[in-house]
Amino acid sequence: MNLLVLGPQGSGKGTQAKRIADDHGIPHVATGDIFRAAVEEGTELGKRVEPILASGELVPDDLTIALIRERLSAPDAANGFVLDGFPRTLAQAEALDEMLAGIERGLDAILFFDLSDAIATERIHRRAVEEGRADDTPEAIARRLAIYHEQTEPIVERYRATGKLVPLHADRSIGEVAAEISEALELLGEGATA
Ligand code: ADP
Repeated sequence: MNLLVLGPQGSGKGTQAKRIADDHGIPHVATGDIFRAAVEEGTELGKRVEPILASGELVPDDLTIALIRERLSAPDAANGFVLDGFPRTLAQAEALDEMLAGIERGLDAILFFDLSDAIATERIHRRAVEEGRADDTPEAIARRLAIYHEQTEPIVERYRATGKLVPLHADRSIGEVAAEISEALELLGEGATA
């Protein structure tokens, strides 16, 4: 199963993506996690992206696309993946389409976590206090939400046109959203075997 989770910061997509990946025994591929791990390990990639992450800007497309291309071709992704945090720009979405077409695979569903800015902002500020993530400064949070609306939201419309977009009410509890997802994935499974 090849899944994509899409939505603003604070929408809970990371939490749900992890759970789906565990349930299905497929990797949770989260660009943000990969970049933060690289920063912590002090690798070349980490040194390069550290100031970008701190500012809330996006890592350049070429670098991000190359990283995902390599990650999705790893053996553990052969049976599927839950992609989280990519694509974030139209260029990345186009690159993903090409990548998947090249290996004759497609996305089974795009889970769209719909959430108002007010709730998203409130949740990220709370997470900032609880988790102390280095890139959760007020400035970076505001910048990331602005970039989401400018660059990532247009991708939602692109995926809506495929008929595979599953809109979710992301303002509900973790359990309620999880139930909504399970139901949608079950329907998808029935469709695949019908
Ligand atoms: P959030 O969803 O809270 O913005 P992420 O963990 O998804 O956090 O991403 C953290 C940071 O990693 C982003 O602000 C950005 O700098 C970088 N990043 C993650 N994914 C991408 C991507 N697809 N393209 C460019 N930069 C990215």
